[in-house]
Amino acid sequence: MVLEKLSQTDPLTEIYNRRTYEARFSEQLCLNKRTEQSICVFLIDLDHFKDYNDGYGHVKGDKIIKLQAKNLTLLFKREADIVARYGGEEFIVIISNVTQNMCVEFAQAIIEQWQNAKVKHGKGKAGKYVTCSIGFHLEQVSKTSDKTTMVKNADKALYLAKEQGRNCFIQSNIIAES
Ligand code: GH3
Ligand code: MG
Ligand code: MG
Repeated sequence: MVLEKLSQTDPLTEIYNRRTYEARFSEQLCLNKRTEQSICVFLIDLDHFKDYNDGYGHVKGDKIIKLQAKNLTLLFKREADIVARYGGEEFIVIISNVTQNMCVEFAQAIIEQWQNAKVKHGKGKAGKYVTCSIGFHLEQVSKTSDKTTMVKNADKALYLAKEQGRNCFIQSNIIAES
């Protein structure tokens, strides 16, 4: 059991690693194809994080990564929610059976966690405090829904959020409320 947990989680943050996220996302998508529930993919990336490391050192940088992971687990608490470390300072969250409004509220809540935490940054081009940017993609799952495409769409939205000045979220598509 302990070994299983070690191989599934990222050692720094203790949330799922990339491999576990891939497996769990595939399972979830399969399930949702049967139940025709929605899926939302959030990509969360810390802003000007290279400048943070350069300014405060890698150890302090690691603390920020850990805090992002912890904050996400505080927000996404449902059994089926998938919260994982996607790469360095980038995180991925997959949630099911959510509405358009719920996704916007979640994205806003992630942004606000940092705004409320007021963790000092101010290095390089960064603002006064640590912030993050988010891209997300919501989809009403159908037979043709595809994992890679969903993540690509979320990633494009994240890129736009960075371009718009960071500390914000962008949705790749708007889905009408059913
Ligand atoms: P942007 O706002 O555009 O995202 O800029 P950025 O500086 O955050 O992006 P960039 O991809 O240039 O830099 C990411 C940095 O994240 C590079 C590296 O120093 C840092 N990083 C990646 N993994 C780790 C880690 O495990 N620990 C620490 N402390 N830093 C990490
Ligand atoms: Mg970054
Ligand atoms: Mg990055």
